[in-house]
Amino acid sequence: MGAAGSKLEKALGDQFPESERYFGLENFGNTCYCNSVLQALYFCTPFREQLLDYYGNHKNPGDAEENLLTCLADLFSQISSQKKKTGVIAPKRFVQRVKKENELFRSYMHQDAHEFLNFLLNELVDILEKESNAATSSPGTLTASENIANGTCNHVSNGIKEEQLVSWVHRIFQGTLTNETRCLLCETVTARDETFLDLSLDIEQNSSITSCLKNFSSTETLNAEDKFFCDKCCSLQEAQKRMKIKKLPHILVIHLKRFKYIEQLGRNKKLSYRVVFPVELKLSNTVDGDDTEYSLFAVVVHVGSGPNHGHYVSLVKSHSHWLFFDDENVDMIDESAVQTFFGSAQEYSSNTDHGYILFYERAVPGVELHHGPFDSTTVLLLFSLQFSLPPPFFLLLLLLLLLLLYHSIQHTIAVYSLNEAWVGGGILPFSYCSMTITSV
Ligand SMILES: [Zn+2]
Repeated sequence: MGAAGSKLEKALGDQFPESERYFGLENFGNTCYCNSVLQALYFCTPFREQLLDYYGNHKNPGDAEENLLTCLADLFSQISSQKKKTGVIAPKRFVQRVKKENELFRSYMHQDAHEFLNFLLNELVDILEKESNAATSSPGTLTASENIANGTCNHVSNGIKEEQLVSWVHRIFQGTLTNETRCLLCETVTARDETFLDLSLDIEQNSSITSCLKNFSSTETLNAEDKFFCDKCCSLQEAQKRMKIKKLPHILVIHLKRFKYIEQLGRNKKLSYRVVFPVELKLSNTVDGDDTEYSLFAVVVHVGSGPNHGHYVSLVKSHSHWLFFDDENVDMIDESAVQTFFGSAQEYSSNTDHGYILFYERAVPGVELHHGPFDSTTVLLLFSLQFSLPPPFFLLLLLLLLLLLYHSIQHTIAVYSLNEAWVGGGILPFSYCSMTITSV
């Protein structure tokens, strides 16, 4: 890796901040599902920052029990504190912990990267909740918050809805969906909210993320065998159902359902469909109907034609440049190369590298999340972008305008005062008089 590492270092040049590290991850036998997700999470800036903060506060190994969160924090800290800019790291302790916690990942078989991401995020949420509960309640009265399935977080115990802890994992990834059902007889709308940490989308051939999201939010009619029990009518009724996004997350993780069970085949099949995912995504499926802009910063790619074998790699955007992570290997790529991972327009194609999990960051409000509140520089930058001018030019233009405005106000005052003095016969202080006369 020495030669390859130095080649990458040369390619990186001085386009990247001094503190940024680009490390490949060693594969311990089919652990690419883990490596590809880890790279996407490492380059998810708010997630990395929070995790390193956590590491900073919990680094005394004596009092903390090792878990998935401490192992991950340890790994991220190990990467970010490397002296060299590039190289390879063995995420051995973390992988061992994953295998220990979940028997699904214990074998050397090909695993599902999305299943792994889901497991990891939910596990982190669990650990953070347990820590918070342990800190706030006495040991005997721990509230039950152990069963958080698929990111759903409202607990009902003894009929009382408990307020769930909002951890930093929630603040980064959690959004809310609202499931609206309208009874066609009495028109009553029943809305049920559920939280999510990622969105799983059904896909179609030659489609796009936008059309998949549209299908996700499309109206579905419940009838025949599938009627809805309306509380107002007190009976099963025909109804219309639709799913909308109520609250958008800061980081939107989209999982394309490329592995589908085909009844005729009696097994899972990989769908190699071409699904376009833009680098800049406009989301309009929200309840309030506003467009929200998102920027793509990582893609976990599944390589191979079947669901039970293959490989995972990831594409990551860091400081406006794209990089390609394939276990130990890291390379710089052009943004245009992202398109080659959309999928295949024909069923049988030699290209088997398909975007599988997409990571988007919310464009403007996201700025607040990990770059602090708006400062004057950000505002200037945003304004100058609006007028497509470089910030120094924009500042100069702004100054000129202010100067012009100041002069025109002075001139108006001068003319006005002169008129007052002459027409109204008012008496002006000497300095004003002399100024108005010289200026007119
Ligand atoms: Zn009804």
